[in-house]
Amino acid sequence: MATVWAEKALLRDGWAENVRIEISPDGLIETIQTGQPAEGHRTGVLLPAPANCHSHAFQRAMAGLTEKRGPDPSDSFWTWRQLMFRFLDRLTPEHVETIAAFVQMEMLEAGYSANVEFHYLHHQPGGLPYANLAEMAERIAAASVTTGMGLTLLPVHYQYGGCDKRALGSGQIRFGNTLDAYAELHAKSAEAIAHLPADSRIGVAPHSLRAVAPEDLGHHVRLAGDTPLHMHLAEQIAEVEEIQAAYGKRPVELVLDSMELNERCCFIHCTQMLSHETDGLARSGAVAGLCPITESSLGDGIFDGVRWFENGGSIAIGSDSNIRISLSEELRTLDYSQRLRDHSRAALATPDKSTGRRLFDAVNAGGATTSARNHGSLAIGKLADMMALKADAVDLIGRGGDTILDCYVFAGDDRMVADVWSAGRHMVTEGSHIGREAIVSAYARTMKELGEAI
Ligand code: ZN
Repeated sequence: MATVWAEKALLRDGWAENVRIEISPDGLIETIQTGQPAEGHRTGVLLPAPANCHSHAFQRAMAGLTEKRGPDPSDSFWTWRQLMFRFLDRLTPEHVETIAAFVQMEMLEAGYSANVEFHYLHHQPGGLPYANLAEMAERIAAASVTTGMGLTLLPVHYQYGGCDKRALGSGQIRFGNTLDAYAELHAKSAEAIAHLPADSRIGVAPHSLRAVAPEDLGHHVRLAGDTPLHMHLAEQIAEVEEIQAAYGKRPVELVLDSMELNERCCFIHCTQMLSHETDGLARSGAVAGLCPITESSLGDGIFDGVRWFENGGSIAIGSDSNIRISLSEELRTLDYSQRLRDHSRAALATPDKSTGRRLFDAVNAGGATTSARNHGSLAIGKLADMMALKADAVDLIGRGGDTILDCYVFAGDDRMVADVWSAGRHMVTEGSHIGREAIVSAYARTMKELGEAI
């Protein structure tokens, strides 16, 4: 039984002081007592640590490489994607494992407890499956053993090169599976997850309405059962136009008309929605998986958080391309995008909750349903997924209650994070992952090998 003590803690029922929490050997919060003397591991401000709802780990190794304007005068998402395809042609299973471990380490150090990995790099260069169909999935799983991070693995189904069902291009053939091959891959991936700690989960991920046929979505829904189902949706204008031309409906209209939605459905981005789509999708119970730093980097557009929340919508936060991994910056970027669009301030706050508190609560709740993880708040019986901010952080001096979260989101950064636990595994102390040195040197070796890749 591990004991953690906090000067202040955001419990499910609100803020409390001098809080003593006991964590059971299976990683659950067993007791919570307030007004207790300091004992065990002492922390400043203890918070629930959300899941990172969307990541493509390997893309971390490309961060910073796509900021030049090339010969194509309309440098855009599509040129970024071309570079990504070239880059991933070089990746071996060993590379993928070391990159994933580095990404998970950075996620933990940023305050995330779990990695929901939208995993689509399945096959060898050239497109042949590995002898072990789930080779790459096993590498992601192995990374989570190295880092101690919770894992919800989403093997991705990617079948077509576009809405006309054209064959995959040369850059996409490492992703491709027929529906039957995908079902087999999913089963093998589930076996890989079965060897991990009990908080690990699996889900289903049709890549997008361009890469799978809408008429096949029923198969994905059945395969998912009561596990999460994630899909990219309504990210880019060109994608909306292609889907509209092919099916006579915009992407969100198509999903609303053809799928039964619930809180286990997570649609990634949703940056290209008209008002009626925002209203309908928010009310469906599905979660919008937002990745504001990547959406900024790719010029996707601005998610309508104001309207989404007005309709009772749920959100989760992910780091997608992993160009930069920072929980506080994701939340800040999300809120600032609303301000810049609407010429407003604090529009996501409510009379009861400040902006920082509302966003933090929202991404904890949405992270829990989209990762199928028993976490999201500090309460007895929940997984001990926790992060602690430094008691002596200068920006927190004299601050209390929800203002702590506002200072963390708007004035602070990851340097405020002192400790992180995932299912009771205490992986970050004094701001650093306990295995940082070995993880960074393995990643550095990989980056050296990939140095000539582009
Ligand atoms: Zn993505």
